[in-house]
This record gives sequence, C-alpha cells and structure tokens, in this order.
Amino acid sequence: MNIYVILKQTFDTEEKIVIQNGEILDDGVKYIINPYDEYAVEEALRLKEQHGGTVIVVSVGPDRTAEALRTALAMGADEAVLISDPSIRTDESGIAALLASYFGSQSYDLILGGYFSVDNGAGQVAVRLAQLLDIPHASAIVKLDVSGGQAVAVRDAEGDSETVEISLPALFTAQQGLNEPRYPSLPGIMKAKKKPFQQLGLNELGIDAESIVSKTERIELFNPPERKAGIILQGGLAEQAAELVRLLKTEAKVL
Ligand SMILES: Cc1cc2nc3c(=O)[nH]c(=O)nc-3n(C[C@H](O)[C@H](O)[C@H](O)COP(=O)(O)OP(=O)(O)OC[C@H]3O[C@@H](n4cnc5c(N)ncnc54)[C@H](O)[C@@H]3O)c2cc1C
Repeated sequence: MNIYVILKQTFDTEEKIVIQNGEILDDGVKYIINPYDEYAVEEALRLKEQHGGTVIVVSVGPDRTAEALRTALAMGADEAVLISDPSIRTDESGIAALLASYFGSQSYDLILGGYFSVDNGAGQVAVRLAQLLDIPHASAIVKLDVSGGQAVAVRDAEGDSETVEISLPALFTAQQGLNEPRYPSLPGIMKAKKKPFQQLGLNELGIDAESIVSKTERIELFNPPERKAGIILQGGLAEQAAELVRLLKTEAKVL
C-alpha cells in the first residue's frame, strides 16, 4: 500500500507569538510537526505495519521544513519529499494546487493529513487537495480501518461520531484521539539520515508561480487585545457583595 502523509511544520505550541510590521517574527523560534499531522504520520506507520507498503511524507515549506520531515523519517516513514522554492508565496489554495501537481505523477492508495494546522488553522489544504485530485475524503477521523480497497473511518462530528465507508484511493485528516504518536527512537534517528529525501522546486514540478497565486489577501494580522487584570474582592462577605454590585454598575455597566 502506498501511503502518503502531507505535513506542515508549525511553531511549537509553547512559543509566544510576536507580530512586527504585520509579520510573525520567527527569530529563535522552535518548530515542530503540526500536532494533527503527527497523528497522521503515526496512523500511516501503523497501517504499514499491518498491511505492508511504503510511507512517504511530503511538505511544502522553506528549507527549515526538512527538520520536520527528518523527524517523521526517524519515527519510521520511508521517504520524504520537500517542495520548496523562494517564489512560493501563496495561500491555502496555492499550497493545495502545488501538492496536487506533485500527486498528479504519484501512485497512492491513501493520503493522510491533519484536521487543521495549529498556526493558521484554515483546515483547507488537505480537503482542497482531495477535491483537486478528485478523490473522496473524510475529515477529523478518530479511527481508521483499511481492508482490501475499502476504508472504514470514524469521524468526530462535533462530539458525536459518524462512521463512513470509502473506496480507496482516498484522503483522511486526523483528529486528536486517533492514536498516540510514537517518539523517534535513537536507531530511528540514525536510520533517518540514510533514507531517500527528495527536494523539488517549481521547475521540477513543471508549474509556474502564476498558477499558484493567492486567491485571498491578508489585510491585517494582529494579536488579540490584552485582557485587563482581574480584581480580587477584599473584606467580609457583605463588603465583597457591595463592592461587586458597585463594579457591575460602574465598571461593567451591566446593572
Ligand atoms: C493571503 C495569504 C498569503 C500567504 N502567504 C504565505 C507565504 O508567502 N509564505 C508562507 O509560508 N505561507 C503563506 N501563507 C500561509 C499558507 O498559505 C498556509 O500556512 C498554508 O496554506 C497552510 O494553511 P493552514 O496553515 O491554514 O493549514 P490547514 O489548511 O489548516 O492544514 C490542514 C492540513 O493540510 C496539510 N498541510 C497544510 N499546509 C501544508 C504544507 N505547507 N505542506 C504539506 N501539507 C500541508 C496538513 O496535513 C495540515 O494538517 C499565506 C496565507 C494567506 C491566507
């Protein structure tokens, strides 16, 4: 079975976001595999262990993205593909189009991705890719069983569960709870260094920058307004109640 995982490298979820001149500063920032994509990598590895085959991880991003792909190789993926080019400055539709041009020349049974990225969080790239490849997809899956040319997936539908049966090839996006991703082992890290790692630019994919221009324009990017510090009421119960009523009238103006 040919299993592909599309993954994005994102800021570590512990990082503080600093915006300057409308751009997020990335000086000294720690990057990780988007956590939802880590579930996708783990699921791909489990399916390979069950059914055999190959796991190939693919990402679009700058050169630093190689680190995320190497982590996936160290977890057990067989091959990695980095699509990187200085002229890639595009939105979700462009990233999906780039991935579609890559997959156009691949043979795949399953494509797994994340439900959404923890940074931009559009939740668009993977499902747009399925649409462009004209294959079925199920998003936010918490269970996946594959047998023959069929897959049965359980989706998280806003807290409820929905079970869907889909013919392969198909694309699935991973929701939290699908599995518990493994850590890369030391032998895995050593082996990763020798695994095939392909780097492709727009030329190799045979597409030009005009065909992946953004369909959206980012007007502004800003942090949420700082929250005012809370107030801890002092004194006895009656005093606190009186002060609370006063604050609700004068500060919150809800009474
Ligand atoms: C107007 C605009 C301009 C932008 N310009 C730039 C730019 O110049 N440079 C830049 O780096 N970013 C740019 N971005 C951001 C970039 O388009 C998004 O980060 C990217 O499309 C992924 O969207 P997302 O993070 O919301 O992922 P989602 O759509 O939430 O991701 C869902 C899933 O799709 C897959 N996926 C997402 N991104 C990738 C990827 N890159 N490679 C492989 N799989 C992936 C993963 O499996 C992920 O879990 C721009 C965005 C906008 C709106």
